[in-house]
Amino acid sequence: MNLCDIDVIRAVLARHGFRFSKSLGQNFLTDLSVPQRIAAQSGAAQAGHVVEVGPGMGCLTAELCRVAGQVVAVELDRALLPVLDETLAGFDNYEVVQGDVLALDLAALCREKFGDGRAVACANLPYYITTPAITALLDSRAFDQVTVMVQKEVAERICAAPGTAAYSAFSIYVQYRAAAEILFDVRADCFVPRPKVDSAVLRLTPLQQPAVQTVDEKLFFSLVRAAFNMRRKTLVNALGPVLGDRLGKNGITALIGTVGLDARVRGERLSLADFARLTDAAAGMLARA
Ligand code: SAM
Repeated sequence: MNLCDIDVIRAVLARHGFRFSKSLGQNFLTDLSVPQRIAAQSGAAQAGHVVEVGPGMGCLTAELCRVAGQVVAVELDRALLPVLDETLAGFDNYEVVQGDVLALDLAALCREKFGDGRAVACANLPYYITTPAITALLDSRAFDQVTVMVQKEVAERICAAPGTAAYSAFSIYVQYRAAAEILFDVRADCFVPRPKVDSAVLRLTPLQQPAVQTVDEKLFFSLVRAAFNMRRKTLVNALGPVLGDRLGKNGITALIGTVGLDARVRGERLSLADFARLTDAAAGMLARA
């Protein structure tokens, strides 16, 4: 059964009286080459164990079952469980866990299902949970590789370089924890129902150590958030809400000079290494203030 064939999708879903839910981000793939390419490039064959988020009707699940030893698919919508029983009947190496991926302890799930075995994560993510789902997958530290389809713009934002319009606090969060690369684009007409935007498949390879070292990770992310909260302002002004009380404007100006940056620079131009140097210098000044 080709689970991406539009006639098969309509017939199976009609048999189960299933209706797509926009609020659950349900856009199912209609081009079989896409789940095939995701499964082939996901590292599932090497790791042997996979957690899939949002199997839907199971087109990606089936491809993962073909290449991996064991697949655990987390699906929020109970109405899809009988659908998956039917579409995945030919496989015996998968399990569906009904639940919200954002409410699960993913590291505990992997330990429970795979023991000490290595695992990767895969998903055609529902758009409405893209950021928290990627954060949860990376924060779990449970996966050797995370391969996710997301809105194309979000994929570009995650991979963006300093000084570009797409560079954001989330680019820095992801690049701090993982090497990020876009594998391929997927046009909006490869889904039913058709979304308004194109998608891209993103490969995140978690790093053993963060991309940059800092003495205070919490302060690092506070400075990053402050810089991007007011990205049109100079860094001196943008850092005011975080450091102004204790260092004053003169102190912040001195701090920026200490790390060799121009006082008029905007935060959006800073690399991860710049933010790390800024954090270490700020931590030193705060300790003395
Ligand atoms: N994998 C299928 C495909 O590629 O055709 C379906 C992908 S569809 C974009 C997203 C899937 O995620 C849907 O099946 C939806 O019900 C499920 N989902 C939505 N929110 C979820 C959540 N919080 N936790 C787990 N699954 C969720």
